[in-house]
Amino acid sequence: MRWRQAIQNMLYPRAACCLGCADPRRAQEKDCLCPDCREQLMKLRLREGVCMRCMSVLDAHGNCAFCASGGLEGLQEGYAAYRHSGIARTLVMALKYEYCDEAADALAAGMADCTPAYRYDALVPVPLHRHRQRMRGANQAALLARAAAPRMGLPVLEALERIRETRVQTQLNREGRMKNVQGAFAVRMNVQGLRILLVDDVRTTGATARECARVLLQANAKYVGILSATAPQRDGGKR
Ligand SMILES: [Zn+2]
Ligand SMILES: [Zn+2]
Repeated sequence: MRWRQAIQNMLYPRAACCLGCADPRRAQEKDCLCPDCREQLMKLRLREGVCMRCMSVLDAHGNCAFCASGGLEGLQEGYAAYRHSGIARTLVMALKYEYCDEAADALAAGMADCTPAYRYDALVPVPLHRHRQRMRGANQAALLARAAAPRMGLPVLEALERIRETRVQTQLNREGRMKNVQGAFAVRMNVQGLRILLVDDVRTTGATARECARVLLQANAKYVGILSATAPQRDGGKR
């Protein structure tokens, strides 16, 4: 059902344009980004001045707003590859709305690079409700997990399902997001004793990840962490 991407690929072959700047003259044979966009993406990597527990950018006083607001409650730790801006944001959009495999691959490389894979047994993508997945064609978190898995030497377990349709979270504040995802997920396989790394495209307030962790821990997972492609520079009260 990824017909939209199939048609688009037929009309505009992916290899012909840079995914970052859409310039066909900057096409690279083995890279979906031109050298300039690749360099810009590297500059967005979350490396320095970030929280040791969740990789959010620290404020001027060295404090983490995400951890201070309970962002990691119930979660072992959080990893994120890029700041949610510029080329990184463009790649997330290409992934979310076009299911672009090259975008998943480019983001997954940074995700694998920032995570100590030996601390985990499996990657578990944050699921979409089956109605939304049918409408959209694919789940961006699953595409990311599948692209990151071989790089990390971990299997992908589709261990969660969304049992209740939830509202799109971009319009909701922090409290609204928490209520929105409450009771939305169920565990659909044995996860007992497993060290699970949730995978999602963007981590904003962490409400979705916390709710997924809650049901996984209830099903006796050993611990649960969250790995996302991007995290916003400042906790703006989104997901
Ligand atoms: Zn470019
Ligand atoms: Zn933190």
